[in-house]
Amino acid sequence: MKELKTDLLIIGAGPGGMAAALYAKRSGLDFIIVEKNMAGGQIINTDLIENYPGFLDNPSGFELAQKLSEHCKKFEIDIMEYFSIDKIEEADHKDGGKTYKFKSTGSDSYIYSRALIIATGAKPDRLDVKGEAEFIGKGISFCATCDGALYRGKEVAVVGGGDTAVEEALFLSNLVDKVYLIHRRDELRACDMLQCRARDNGKIEFLWSSVVEEFVGDEKLESIIIKNKNDGSTRKIAVAAAFEYVGWEPNSDMIKHLVDTDQKGFIIADMTMKTSHEAIFAIGDVRNTPFRQVITAVADGAVAAMYVDKYFLEQG
Ligand code: NAP
Repeated sequence: MKELKTDLLIIGAGPGGMAAALYAKRSGLDFIIVEKNMAGGQIINTDLIENYPGFLDNPSGFELAQKLSEHCKKFEIDIMEYFSIDKIEEADHKDGGKTYKFKSTGSDSYIYSRALIIATGAKPDRLDVKGEAEFIGKGISFCATCDGALYRGKEVAVVGGGDTAVEEALFLSNLVDKVYLIHRRDELRACDMLQCRARDNGKIEFLWSSVVEEFVGDEKLESIIIKNKNDGSTRKIAVAAAFEYVGWEPNSDMIKHLVDTDQKGFIIADMTMKTSHEAIFAIGDVRNTPFRQVITAVADGAVAAMYVDKYFLEQG
């Protein structure tokens, strides 16, 4: 196993992690940034980014992620991609007068660091209903950008009523014949602009106050049994695919033993992005933030890097 030493380890190279790296570089910090997949994070799977200020040409998530990586390259930041941190321990490893507090065990290396920025994001929540586990990858998907084209000309369902569900339903409506949008309430959570577009879209049919009771099929998904919450009635709709967008689950398992989290495992951090551990900062979607936007993750990253710098100055 290789042994690496640094002052700051940034785990995750989504928009938040990359912004933290840019700010850390400008502050002259000694740091390493690792990413378990390719740099970019969840936005890679997003069709259009319309609300990132200054980008008037509505880049895809992939294009925006590329721009952020290019910015890192320009700053000579080497993102260690496909490097997964499996375990983090407090180490108290003395070296040349410095105290390395953490030992993060990754692919084939240990990384010792004095501070951590956790930017590991979140993964899609699941509905946990009958048939779901059986049909994931066989009709049930969490990524319309990745899988939507497989269902060209067919009828599909989207579950959820937030920005993601509505945005992805709109995206799918360009490919498929019909999108059922299944939402558990009679009012969407998504922002007004998306709501208006969805309501004006002739291919989207809303199934209000409805929940999925069961995914049904033989080899692959063929239909969904839906229950109306108001009158308890059920109906079966034939669909070739179902896209679930019912919230997120934090990627915080590796760090939960060292910091406070909320009930779902989102890491609790203050306005400086500091967690309950003075040398661990959490940013972006893994934090218990009320807003999970690219711009809020990027802002978190900048704030965390500046406070890490301040923390090191105070530590001497
Ligand atoms: P979200 O806002 O948490 O919405 C999740 C949706 O799933 C809600 O409508 C919720 O219903 C529903 N839901 C949750 N659990 C469910 C269950 N067990 N069964 C059925 N429905 C369930 O998640 P999101 O839409 O992914 O958005 C996450 C964050 O990213 C938000 O801050 C959002 O603004 C942001 N985002 C922004 C953009 C953008 O600005 N362009 C795009 C995508 C996401 P209820 O409404 O009844 O709770």
